[in-house]
Amino acid sequence: KNALSERITNMATSATLAMAAKARELRNQGKDIIGLSLGEPDFHIPDFIKEAAKEAIDQNYSSYSPVDGYGDLKQAISNKFKRDNNLDYGLSQIVVSTGAKQSLANVAMVMLNQGDEVILPAPYWVSYSDIVKLAEGVPVEVPTSIENDFKMTPYQLEAAITPKTKMIWFSSPCNPSGSVYSQEELEGLAEVLRKHPGIYVVSDEIYEHINFRGGHVSIAGIEGMYDRTITVNGVSKAFAMTGWRIGYIGAPEWIAKACTKFQGQITSGANAIAQRATIAALEAPVSKIQYMIDEFHKRRDLILSLLGEIEGFALNVPEGAFYVFPNVSSFFGKTLKGQKIENASDFSLYLLEHANVATVTGEAFGNPNCIRISYAASTDEIKEAVSRIKAVL
Ligand code: PLP
Repeated sequence: KNALSERITNMATSATLAMAAKARELRNQGKDIIGLSLGEPDFHIPDFIKEAAKEAIDQNYSSYSPVDGYGDLKQAISNKFKRDNNLDYGLSQIVVSTGAKQSLANVAMVMLNQGDEVILPAPYWVSYSDIVKLAEGVPVEVPTSIENDFKMTPYQLEAAITPKTKMIWFSSPCNPSGSVYSQEELEGLAEVLRKHPGIYVVSDEIYEHINFRGGHVSIAGIEGMYDRTITVNGVSKAFAMTGWRIGYIGAPEWIAKACTKFQGQITSGANAIAQRATIAALEAPVSKIQYMIDEFHKRRDLILSLLGEIEGFALNVPEGAFYVFPNVSSFFGKTLKGQKIENASDFSLYLLEHANVATVTGEAFGNPNCIRISYAASTDEIKEAVSRIKAVL
């Protein structure tokens, strides 16, 4: 009997988490699975951040924090926005949440009414469409192509706008394509948006520091965008703090206040110890985490060159994050080891079953021709995984 709400029944399970669970299950059965499905750095949290957390425990940071985060953490976030992005967000414009995922969910819940359209340049991060739907919004996918490095053009944006468009959500560097929007490209999108003053922007910058071309650009800094942009960021990726669950936004004050009100009814303030540790993370110079970025850069080059040797994989050159997003549609319609490959999901499952390598189907990211491979893994694992993939193709 299904007594569950339509809300949950209609929701897709997070494909990345589902693949990770499947890989775990196979591993428990004794299979030697290489997991390249999760978006999770394989580094440990830097010691100086751990020390700050230990101190916070000893200093008894054990009570509820303010719903929107500790004042000194918000000050550190405000300083970080100024230092890294040249953005002026006062403390009343900042909300700290349980991961950027909650920051995004807060924004959807406070900004969207039933039927409001949200433009998602595809491929987009797996949770955007279900978060939007949960808030009764309507995701409007704008397919981009590998020829354009998976970036939405101003022309495509203009064509997707309707009287119901309320927001546009995108990430740069992008999960899953690794694409990084340049100043010029964002100026082009802003030019279109300036003609439509009622449209708000979610700029998800969680991969900001994992950028190999340099020069991260925040769209909030572009003319006319500050008052209608919600800048989302967090410490999961650059500081290897995924499990500590801290994300935050900088936004117009009225949006920040609404997010605080919403969060006050569902989760309250984020984990106190993790908030204290985040102060140490954000106050440190970026040079302290450069070793991880350099390592991701090396691995990006390695996996690109190895995958480039496999016939049938079409690749862009990701300039940030830690994923490659090859187009594998040349395999569709083929039968491999008796298994018919019709789409990216079949392809990804084939790799799991025959090469023991976990990837994620591009379908979950709004692009059914690609698969996402995370290279947040050791170079040995990357080499072994690609050689297994090559062998079964
Ligand atoms: N945004 C993007 C683009 C991501 O890839 C992720 C994590 O995979 C998140 C947001 C969520 O991050 P957090 O761990 O802070 O919830």
